[in-house]
Amino acid sequence: MTTINWHQCAKNIDLSIYDLIDGKQVKPNSDETIRKYAPRDGSLLYQLPVGAPAEVERAVACAKQAHKDKRWQGLPLHQRQAMLRKLADLIDTHQNTFALYECLDAGKPISRAAREVTIASNMLRETAESADKLFSAYIADEAYCAYHLRKPVGVVGAIIPWNYPLVIAALKIGPALIMGNSLVLKPSEYTSLSAAYLATLALEAGIPPGVLNIVHGIGQTVGAALAHHRDIDLLSFTGSSATGKQIQIAAGQSNMKRLLLECGGKSPYLVFDDCPKDLDMLAADIVGTMFQNQSQNCMANSRLLVQDSIKEALVPKVLEQTAKFIPQDPLDPNTNFGAMIHETHMNNVLSYIDSGTKEGATLIAGGKRVHVDTGNTDSGGFYIEPTLFDNVNPQQKIAQEEIFGPVLSILTFKTEQEAIELANNTIYGLAAYVATENMGRARRLSQDINAGSVMFISTSTPAACSQQLGKEGHRESGFGAEGGLLGLASYSLNTCVQQWT
Ligand code: NAD
Repeated sequence: MTTINWHQCAKNIDLSIYDLIDGKQVKPNSDETIRKYAPRDGSLLYQLPVGAPAEVERAVACAKQAHKDKRWQGLPLHQRQAMLRKLADLIDTHQNTFALYECLDAGKPISRAAREVTIASNMLRETAESADKLFSAYIADEAYCAYHLRKPVGVVGAIIPWNYPLVIAALKIGPALIMGNSLVLKPSEYTSLSAAYLATLALEAGIPPGVLNIVHGIGQTVGAALAHHRDIDLLSFTGSSATGKQIQIAAGQSNMKRLLLECGGKSPYLVFDDCPKDLDMLAADIVGTMFQNQSQNCMANSRLLVQDSIKEALVPKVLEQTAKFIPQDPLDPNTNFGAMIHETHMNNVLSYIDSGTKEGATLIAGGKRVHVDTGNTDSGGFYIEPTLFDNVNPQQKIAQEEIFGPVLSILTFKTEQEAIELANNTIYGLAAYVATENMGRARRLSQDINAGSVMFISTSTPAACSQQLGKEGHRESGFGAEGGLLGLASYSLNTCVQQWT
């Protein structure tokens, strides 16, 4: 990584954006455009057409035809697997290009962006490999058997956000295609580059025309047209809970399409005084999980709930670790903390910081926008310091709402019951992290905390999260599993077949 001159590469990279419809790359067709600014320096990166419902019509019609004539679902599974593996290999071959696109578009550190490319390609491979594991059969005797037949749902629409553009695209493309569906994918209007490039590789991988379609544009045009479309059989959405609710309305007003909704979060990190003894390790985990991707991460542990008996020992360590995250130019390979996605979002996060102080919490780190030298004279990148608030009241805005930025709220509890109540005291239920060595407590909390994923930190830091099981949000974090075998089930219809012979 370190030998590449990323600044030079960034000057030469092609920023063209194409839709992919019926196996052809086409320029998004609409006169109206939005300006996309680079998070790292605020300069104009490209202009994106807002997109038109007519393009959604064309893409959905092609996907529907592809489903009907079985050009994809009719292929033997091993052929579909081979093409998805080829796509994964092509992504790896073009790792540097993808990393640069993600870095420029999303403002994420280039080294992190490169890791995400590998995560995306591995995800595609693992999904392809697991497709033949999703069967169940019941055989009573010679004369009777029953089994679940998994069938493609049909035309899948996928609407994705800007925080992990390539990874989330892979999370949807893999299961949708391996289960035999055809797909129309809408990337976020803030991060269009990696999906546009992926479209070229999908053709090279041999995926038949019309099976994977990509339509760029904004939510109000392209997204809404997909959500209301009567020929979309399943809509898989990742984004905010507010948009998720709009999607539910659109599904109800149109064809009652199936929905997978992966929405917002306000995840707690609970630390009990029976946590692992190594508080440096623990603080590094708390801070590393929280500030990854500038905390623009649905599973960010934006609430640190600490048992009062251990608070005095832990908080200085958390401060120490936080100081290691310094906003810097995302194109620098040593950067671990980049820029916020856009100016409005940055200002929104700053207004949360303002409210934190006004509502009585104690600011103990960060709190400001900072200037980062990117070697560019018009440098006006969207950088905010990692920020910590202590003595946060559970009812404060910063303890209740998803900020989606680097603002960590510290709250305290005395008893396990109080900890559970605090953990569950938001509208969300996406993830929770718990530091305890007490396995009985771990068992109770996995039952009582309202979250689709609960991670226990008991002896050492988890090296990697597994996608193998699949997971889903609870409450206003959404519903429907993604990832693993559960995710494959979400992207297919289940027919129970009973046979008497
Ligand atoms: P967003 O809801 O603003 O946009 C997400 C997508 O929806 C974009 O492609 C957007 O164009 C589209 N969209 C907007 N309005 C629409 C409408 N009316 N109809 C159809 N589509 C519409 O979210 P965002 O700001 O892009 O992403 C951040 C949010 O995503 C956060 O809330 C975060 O928690 C959530 N997220 C959740 C997960 C998860 O796994 N649960 C993962 C990543 C991000």
